Order: sequence, then C-alpha cells, then structure tokens
Amino acid sequence: MRWSDDALNEMERVPFFIRNMVRKKVEAFARQQGSHLVVPDHLEQCRQRFMKDQQPDVKGYRLETCFGAKDCSNRVFGPTEIVQRLDEFLGRQGLRDFLQKNVSGPLKMHHEFRVSVSFCPNSCSRPQIVDIGIIGALRPAWAADKECNRCNACIDECEEGAIMLVEDAGPLIDCERCLCCGKCITVCPSSVLIKEREGFRVLVGGKLGRHPQLAHELPGIFSEDEVLAIVEKIVGFYMGNSQNGERLGSLVKRKGLESLYQFIGIPSRDIT
Ligand code: SF4
Ligand code: SF4
Ligand code: SF4
Repeated sequence: MRWSDDALNEMERVPFFIRNMVRKKVEAFARQQGSHLVVPDHLEQCRQRFMKDQQPDVKGYRLETCFGAKDCSNRVFGPTEIVQRLDEFLGRQGLRDFLQKNVSGPLKMHHEFRVSVSFCPNSCSRPQIVDIGIIGALRPAWAADKECNRCNACIDECEEGAIMLVEDAGPLIDCERCLCCGKCITVCPSSVLIKEREGFRVLVGGKLGRHPQLAHELPGIFSEDEVLAIVEKIVGFYMGNSQNGERLGSLVKRKGLESLYQFIGIPSRDIT
C-alpha cells in the first residue's frame, strides 16, 4: 500500500506508541474502499471511527520495540527472545480485565500498561516514558593482561567521554558516564576492552500526560531471565496497588521507591 506525502505528514502527528496499529487500520480501511493509495481522508475517517470507540482495540498492555531487533548495527548483542517472552507474559496477566475494573468509563489506549524495549542506549522506542523500559546494555571492562597501544580509538568512539587513558596503565572507564553501548569494545584493536556484562537496563515508571515523568532506572544490568522476573514483580506491584487507573509512575511516587524496591527484592540502599 502506498501513502501520499500528505497522509505521511498526518501520520507524524499520531503518537508513536499507536502508530503501527493506526497504520494497519488505515491501510485496511483504504483497501476496503478499493484504494491502493492512502490519503489524508482515509486517516480522518478512521480517526472519527476510532475516537468513538477504542474499546475493541484495548488489550490492556502495549509492547513496543525499536527497529533494531533484527539488524541495526547499533544493537549491543545478537538475537534474543525477550520480546516474545514479554509478550507472552503480559498476555497472561489479565491486564485488560484489571483495567476494566479500575478505570471509570470506557477503556482507552492511554490506560494500557506500556512496556518498551530498545536494543541499545539510543533508545529509539523511548523506554524512558513508559511504565517499564528495557534497554540493551553491554558494560566494558579493561583486560589487565592485554597491552593498550594507546591508539585512542576507544576515546574517539565514546560519545560520552567516559574513557580516560592512564599513564603506564590501560583505559579507565567512568561508570557514571558510561551508557553501556559497547562501542569501545568493538573498536579496540588489541582486545584491551572486553565485555564485562551484557544484558538489559530496566527503567520503571515513566509517563507522559498531564504530569509527565521520566522513568527511574533500577541499579544494574540484568539477564533476560532476570528482566522477566523483575517485570513479573513490577506488574504484581502495579496490579496489587494501583487505584482508579493510576499509572505505575504515579503509584511509585505515592508509595515511594523503597516500597517498589522491597517488592522486587532489591536492597533499598541501592536507590540512586
Ligand atoms: S535503539 Fe539502538 S538498536 Fe534500536 S533502532 Fe535505535 S539505534 Fe538501533
Ligand atoms: S560502552 Fe559506550 S559509553 Fe561506555 S565507555 Fe564504551 S563507548 Fe563509552
Ligand atoms: S582502543 Fe584499545 S588499544 Fe586503543 S587506546 Fe583504547 S584500550 Fe587502548
């Protein structure tokens, strides 16, 4: 299905987290109308229908990923099943029924529990503004048995200015600045920079709306299994405590981060 330039411009105004769904609906609608080209009128007619009743499309959660799942050169590691596993887990939680009981009035897309996965710190799927954000991470370390040839490739590559070369030693990495993109490892010709840990960073409680808030990052880099276990805890915390359609971010604010950490099983001394 082709799109006119005007229709593509209109699509830019659709919130990113429902853009894929809207695209499919609009294309199906245009097809029904016997058209092979989507024009702004198709979008407008779909919008009017959709605004009237979103309920059939609300499944209780929304799982977004960046486009890097398969072949983006920035992704920090190879294939993973985390997205399928998250989808299966979230689909079993009864989030739609939960929302139906907790939200007054008809269910809308913005009530849904939102999870977003990005496969590198560029965060194209905006994990900072959803209930749970997951970011691929690769933390570098210095292999002390290898000799650094001081080529500076790692320093040139690191956009965060997180690497310093120390006289008569190797590279020092500033953990506060390092975003765990793993690029310095890739460019190091002498394998002085190696993989210390790969997995995912986990962010909690981001949201937009009337009182936007950026998500809080849990301390550490977690394996796929650990992420699933943490997500299970967080969803349990949310479904056990959220009132009247309260978003996770507001709930964490109301109950305090210590309460969430306790529920997940992370020592509260690690709150940063
Ligand atoms: S977040 Fe990273 S891996 Fe995903 S599409 Fe963006 S640049 Fe590629
Ligand atoms: S992993 Fe990325 S951010 Fe961290 S030191 Fe290496 S290049 Fe810099
Ligand atoms: S890229 Fe590797 S060899 Fe070159 S300065 Fe950095 S650590 Fe040393």
